[in-house]
Amino acid sequence: MREIRGIAASPGIALAPAFIFLDDYNAAIPSYPIESDHVDAEYRRFSEAIEFSKREVAGLKEKALAEVGEEQAAIFEAHLMMLDDPELKERVQNGLESSLLNVESVIFRFEQEAIDQLSSSQDPYIQERVSDVHDVVRRVLGRLLHRERFSLADIERDVIVVAKDLLPSDMVGMARNRVKGIATEAGGRTSHAAILARAFQIPAVLGVGQFLSDVQPGITLIVDGDRGVVVLNPDESALNKEKVARSLRQRKVKAFESIRDIPAATKDGCRIHLMANIEVPEEANLVNEQRADGIGLFRSEFLFLGGHVPGEESQYKAYRKVVEAMDGKPVTIRTMDIGGDKVLPEFGAQDEKNPLLGWRAIRFCLSKTDIFRTQLRAILRASLHGDVRIMFPMISTMEELIKARGILEEAQWECRSRGYEVPSDLKAGIMIEVPSAALCADTLARSADFFSIGTNDLTQYTMAVDRGNEKVAYLHDPYNPAVLRLITMTIESARKANIEVGLCGEMGGDPTGAVLLVGLGLRELSMSAASIPAVKSLLLATPLAELEEAAETVMKMTSPGAIATFLASRFNV
Ligand code: PEP
Ligand code: MG
Repeated sequence: MREIRGIAASPGIALAPAFIFLDDYNAAIPSYPIESDHVDAEYRRFSEAIEFSKREVAGLKEKALAEVGEEQAAIFEAHLMMLDDPELKERVQNGLESSLLNVESVIFRFEQEAIDQLSSSQDPYIQERVSDVHDVVRRVLGRLLHRERFSLADIERDVIVVAKDLLPSDMVGMARNRVKGIATEAGGRTSHAAILARAFQIPAVLGVGQFLSDVQPGITLIVDGDRGVVVLNPDESALNKEKVARSLRQRKVKAFESIRDIPAATKDGCRIHLMANIEVPEEANLVNEQRADGIGLFRSEFLFLGGHVPGEESQYKAYRKVVEAMDGKPVTIRTMDIGGDKVLPEFGAQDEKNPLLGWRAIRFCLSKTDIFRTQLRAILRASLHGDVRIMFPMISTMEELIKARGILEEAQWECRSRGYEVPSDLKAGIMIEVPSAALCADTLARSADFFSIGTNDLTQYTMAVDRGNEKVAYLHDPYNPAVLRLITMTIESARKANIEVGLCGEMGGDPTGAVLLVGLGLRELSMSAASIPAVKSLLLATPLAELEEAAETVMKMTSPGAIATFLASRFNV
C-alpha cells in the first residue's frame, strides 16, 4: 500500500481499479525517406488504414444513432464521406510520388495544409470542418502507427482515471457514469479538469506530482477528493477507513437536504443570491436540484471542446435548453473563453509560447469576428426564451469592451434582419479577471452592465502563477492581500457606478471564501452547484455583522495562510 498527497480538487471518495490514460495526441509523427519503388507499398498501407477506419466509423455511426441521435450520427456520416473522398486519395498518391516520404508524413502534411486552408476561410461553416479533418486524419494515422486511439468516451467499466494531465476536451467527452474518480500528476484546484470534475461530481485529486510510474493498470486505488489523498493498493485498514468516510459524507449530504428549499441569506435575513456555474447544458438539472437562484456563469466554450465546433443552430439549441430549464431565472452566458488550457487546435491556438498570456477569450473572439457573431446570434435568439445575460471574458482594456459591444450590436441587427425580434436591452457584463480590469473597474463600469469577478484568473494574473502548475500551487491563493485588494476595488467601483457585481471564481464555492466575500459586500456568488449547500448552511448560521467584522480584520492581515486559519477557526469550518 502507498498513500500519496495531492490537491483536493473535487469532493467525494472513490474506490475502483486504475485506468491509465496516456494521450498520444502530441506524439511525434515519424518522417523518413522511401525508395521510389516503395510508393505503391506505402499507398497500400494507406488504403488498408482507410478501409479499417471506415469500418470503425460506420460502427460509431450506428452507436450514435442508437444512443445519441441523428445529429451526432450525421457527424460520422460526414467522416465516412471524407474517408471516401477521391481528392484525398489523389493527394496522398501525388504526395508520396513527389516527396518520397513515408505515408504518415504525407498525411500529416495534408492535414496541416487542409487545416490552414479551412481555418483561414471567412465562412464559419467551413471553419467548423477543421475538427472533422483533424478527427479523420488522427484515426487513419492511429491505424497506420498501430497506436490505440483511446478516448475516455470509450471506457466501459468502472475505473479511476490516472493521467499526467487531463485537457478540458478529454473531460467533456469522457464516459461520466464509468469514471468513478480522477487522479492526475498536474493540475490545481482551479484548473479546468478540477472544475469539470466538480461539475460532473467525480471525486478528484490533482497535482499529485510524479506517480504514474508506480501505478500498474488495474490495481486498486482510492481517490479521496475531500482530503486530497490517493491510496495505491489499499490494505484492510485503509479500506475500512474509506467505508467510514463514505458513510459520514452521506450523512452530511442528508443534513443539507433540510435547507434545500430555504432561500440563501445570512442569519439576520440579508438575501444572498447563490448562483451556479455550469460547463455543459446537462448540468442544469443539478442546478435546479440545489435550488440555485440562477446560472451566474455558463462556460460556453465547453460546447466547442467536444471535438466538433457547433454552428449557430446547435449552439442556439444548447443555450435554449439551459434557459428553458431555468424557467425564468437569470442565465449568464459567457462568450467563449477559448485559449489557455482550453485548446482548440483547429484555430491554431495551440502553438503559442505563453498561451495563458496569449490569444485567449475576448482577444480570440475579436480577431475571429465571424465565430464571435455566430455565437452572439445564438445567445440573442436563446434570450427570447428567458432571462439571459451576456458576459465577455478576460476584458483587459476599455477598447476591447467597446469593440465587443459593437459586434454585439451587429449581431442584433443580423438577427432582426432574419426575422428574430431579439431584445436591444440585453444586459452585457464583463468578467473582472485581469488586474488591469480591476484597477480600471471605475472606467469599465461606464460601458458594462455588470461585473463578475473571476478569482481563478485574477489570482493567476495578479500572482504571476500558472493556476494549473502544481509546483507553484502555493502561490495561487485568493486570500493573498493583493488579490483581496483588487476584489474590494472592483466592488467599490461597481457600487459607485451603481451596477451589479458578483463573483464566479472557485473562491465563492468555498464556505470560508464565501463568508469573507459577503463580509466584503458581495450579494451574489456563483459556484459549482454541488458547493451551494455547504455555503448556504454557513450563511444561514451567521449574522451579517459578524461577516463584516471578520472581513475588516482580514483586510488588515498580511499572510494568506493566517487569513485562511483565522476564517476557518472563526466560522468553525
Ligand atoms: C475565473 O477565472 O475565475 C473564472 C470563473 O473563469 P474560468 O475559471 O473559466 O477561467
Ligand atoms: Mg477565467
